[in-house]
Amino acid sequence: MKQTSVELRDVRKSYGSLQVVHGIDLAIDEGEFVVFVGPSGCGKSTLLRMIAGLEDVTSGEIVIKGRDVTDLDPSERGIAMVFQSYALYPHMSVRDNLGFGLKMANTDAAEIARRVGHASGVLKIDHLLDRRPGQLSGGQRQRVAIGRAIVREPDVFLFDEPLSNLDAELRVSMRIEIAKLHRKLANTMIYVTHDQTEAMTLADKIVVLRDGRIEQTGTPREVYENPANVFVAGFIGSPR
Ligand code: ADP
Ligand code: MG
Repeated sequence: MKQTSVELRDVRKSYGSLQVVHGIDLAIDEGEFVVFVGPSGCGKSTLLRMIAGLEDVTSGEIVIKGRDVTDLDPSERGIAMVFQSYALYPHMSVRDNLGFGLKMANTDAAEIARRVGHASGVLKIDHLLDRRPGQLSGGQRQRVAIGRAIVREPDVFLFDEPLSNLDAELRVSMRIEIAKLHRKLANTMIYVTHDQTEAMTLADKIVVLRDGRIEQTGTPREVYENPANVFVAGFIGSPR
């Protein structure tokens, strides 16, 4: 039996009187690649940020590997998040960008070097370690941003529209890279996108959201072939 990796129990979020996430219940298996997909403003980022601990839940519980993490800091949750904006430090080498978070957490130098070596091997960026972000292409920068998550050796990777700043061609090749990364690392990954193609090609399980509610959960095939309603059919079915 597969272990549950991440569990959301009746998770809700309001900003003032505006409720943007309505009672989400979801169980994600260990090693599963889950994609939250839905139109802009449906609450994808809010949900991911609550899992990450970057945003408080208004009510409900978030459980990671059997541990209630609802009130824990992001650094205590065993997660690492990859953002759409790379947020690399421009004055630091790629090597130092990769190691910076670990250094701040007082990880010793040999361990940092080991993890940076592992991450750069996995992402094939060894040859870029002495460069600065300004000397990298968009795709290379995105690899470094993913590398910063890998060095933390998290249980769960969280991605918030990591490819939406890239041009169409690069988006396709990075999508393939991310799929390979999942096969290599075998971690649980939760990936947010408004792009149906990304969702269909990356996901073991798709969660279709609308207005802060789950419309349907299933494999890409299930959702495509048996959409739960007209919204899902229109959203997954219509090419962009
Ligand atoms: P998505 O990532 O799916 O585009 P978001 O999670 O960013 O959607 O936003 C969901 C809803 O919550 C939107 O209506 C958005 O305007 C609102 N929202 C997000 N962050 C805040 C905030 N800090 N304060 C008020 N409203 C917010
Ligand atoms: Mg968003």
